[in-house]
Amino acid sequence: MRFDKYAIADPIKRSLAESGFVKPTDIQFKAIPSIMKGEDVLAIAQTGTGKTAAFAIPIINWMHENQEKLPKGIVRCLVMVPTRELAVQITEVFQNLAKYTPVKILSMFGGVDQTPQTKGLDRGVDVLITTPGRMFDLRSQGFIDLSQTQILVLDEADHMLALGFIRDIRDTIKNLPKNHQTLFFSATINEEIKNLAYSIVRNPIRIQISPKDRVSKNVDHQVAFIEMDDKRFFLERIIKEHETSKFLVFVRTKVRAERVFSAMQRVGIETITMHGDKDQLDRLDVMEKFRTGKVRVLIATDVSARGIDISGVNYVINYDLPDIDENYVHRVGRTGRGMEKGIAVSFCATEEKPVLEEIQKFLGKPIQVLEIEKDEYKMTLALTEEPGTNWRKLIEDHEAELAKKRKKKGKK
Ligand code: AMP
Repeated sequence: MRFDKYAIADPIKRSLAESGFVKPTDIQFKAIPSIMKGEDVLAIAQTGTGKTAAFAIPIINWMHENQEKLPKGIVRCLVMVPTRELAVQITEVFQNLAKYTPVKILSMFGGVDQTPQTKGLDRGVDVLITTPGRMFDLRSQGFIDLSQTQILVLDEADHMLALGFIRDIRDTIKNLPKNHQTLFFSATINEEIKNLAYSIVRNPIRIQISPKDRVSKNVDHQVAFIEMDDKRFFLERIIKEHETSKFLVFVRTKVRAERVFSAMQRVGIETITMHGDKDQLDRLDVMEKFRTGKVRVLIATDVSARGIDISGVNYVINYDLPDIDENYVHRVGRTGRGMEKGIAVSFCATEEKPVLEEIQKFLGKPIQVLEIEKDEYKMTLALTEEPGTNWRKLIEDHEAELAKKRKKKGKK
């Protein structure tokens, strides 16, 4: 069924149409009717499935159709997320979908001045999107009133647990009215998540999206065998061959990120890096540059992987294979979002083959191999524009040497 047939308010339909959202994704199809009925939801779904809009659409619709005066500090719907990037991202989805409605949305996270956030709270909000830490701070300072909160959303609950937010979450829930609605989203499920979920939801509708196929069907993912020292030349080539594409390049450490950044700079490719050392403003600036396409290549570590949702990423390159196999899924899931198609290529050096095996075990099937012919491999090294790396000459010399030897042999 198309969105225009849904019982949602016209201003929301208008922004859905403008965003190019015509039909619901799987999770939206399953979750929206239940959320609209006021039921609790327990959903296991990764980012990239369209899960944000799955809760944003019915929440905005409800707020729009049940408008209320907003006293100081009042929050009608609370969305808790693990990271600032995710907070920014989800806020953008809400703001975009609610742009033709009077629904008031506010975003809060740590690492920045709290004044604009407390000013926003003073005016009361329909939907507050926040990380647990900042939420805890501002609530203990008396800026937030949860006594009339009707909807609680926990997004990426598994990630919040991993970051140790369990106490903040439980403490917050204690302060909500008894009959609130809970929407619980997690990318993975284990005993701990189940325990948390079942302790806070009531008779939930359970939704699980593609549990077997960990990588979205929209992502064509392959592995190419490339030696460590040659990886930069292959990255250079693929970026130069796809002049208009957006690339998200994953590396293992921040030192590697800066190294790849310099290597690309030497061959005239502009990139930006994102890793744990960047402060909050830097991170937002980086995301903005990449999102708007000002810089089309972003080099990132896994730290930032989960928070990134930029539509239009055409390629994910695993420049280094991830140490944790689950991260493979999170990384390649940054492309092929929603209804888009994406390509992910992993560069695997000989020493990384055991890691590749682990990843394949985790996926339950082998990753398709992108065959590179010997000549093609040599050609890639020869094509580099890196100053001082005259591969072409090296190869020519080597081939001349071989020819000489052959000639000598023939004479004997
Ligand atoms: P999410 O799983 O919420 O991170 O969403 C992943 C991506 O899917 C986002 O970039 C959305 O813009 C896109 N998306 C969500 N719902 C739809 C839809 N119904 N049609 C097309 N794209 C969508």
